[in-house]
Amino acid sequence: MIDINELVRENVRKLKPYSCARDEFKGSDGVFMDANENPYGNLNRYPDPLQQELKGLIADLRGISIENIFLGNGSDEVIDLCYRTFCNPGSNKALLFTPTYGMYEVSAAVNDTGIVKVALNESFQIDMERAKPMLSDNTIKLIFICSPNNPTGNSMIHSDVEELIASFKGIVVIDEAYIDFSAKQSFLLLLEKYPNLIVMQTFSKAFGLAAARVGMAFADKLIIHYFNKLKYPYNISTINQEAVILKLRKKEKTLAEIKKISSEKERLARELGKLKITQKVYPSDANFILVKVNNADYIYNRLIEKEIVVRNRSSVAENCLRITVGKRAENNKLMNALKSI
Ligand code: PMP
Repeated sequence: MIDINELVRENVRKLKPYSCARDEFKGSDGVFMDANENPYGNLNRYPDPLQQELKGLIADLRGISIENIFLGNGSDEVIDLCYRTFCNPGSNKALLFTPTYGMYEVSAAVNDTGIVKVALNESFQIDMERAKPMLSDNTIKLIFICSPNNPTGNSMIHSDVEELIASFKGIVVIDEAYIDFSAKQSFLLLLEKYPNLIVMQTFSKAFGLAAARVGMAFADKLIIHYFNKLKYPYNISTINQEAVILKLRKKEKTLAEIKKISSEKERLARELGKLKITQKVYPSDANFILVKVNNADYIYNRLIEKEIVVRNRSSVAENCLRITVGKRAENNKLMNALKSI
């Protein structure tokens, strides 16, 4: 059985976290003279440092207890916390399956953590024969798996991922930023079985709240405990907590939007497949499509001239553009522009 405490950096284990006024007194009624706040205004009080009301709604949404939920300033904060909690700068490493989301590598560099890259195979799946030998390298503390993966759009094979979690003696982080666009099962189901699993999700994508910067981590309560120790005391503003609370109270609208995006994605994929410039439209479980074209740089620049901005991913996937699904009219504009190139 994995001992999470042993995986945590010694200074983090020993850290006595900052104790803010709201940690010491939790009630909401009374005269508050404990946090040097201004008595005037609407945003004069500090936010709930542990976001209890919001976590209650997320617990209902995902069927996970509050004690297994951490909220970050976007998933990007969670990624950074994974490094800060588990990786000793200068000596530890993380394993990435590439191409994948760029912040795992940037955050590793910020935290002076090395990375080992194993390329995804030609179907953009984890190359298990190349991945498995890495598991015995005990300088590797973290594995990041993005599923559905950005920028490829596909989900990783469930049994491969579970095999990695079960055999690895460190922490496996599964980034499910796009899971609400996918019909595949979430890895949240494995949370109780594996204490070394962290599942990340976000309100930036299917919930349409990228501006609010709220990301989620679901994990064993000991991992959540360490994340809470390390985070800035008030990492999610009151305005942002309230934006998510309002969104969660109108779930039907979000579900309807997800459906619209999914059907537009199918239409866009079909239309892209008919273009002469298209070599391959990759299957996607996310809200974007990776498409291989004859000359990605040329097409990217022609689209920019027409004020249509897609992502040129040629540097990580040869001649590939990543196209985020827009509203119907926006998708039509893109298709008309591509037809005229
Ligand atoms: N994970 C993946 C796979 C992403 O593609 C993104 C955003 N592009 C994020 C995380 C970042 O999410 P957040 O906005 O919650 O920081």
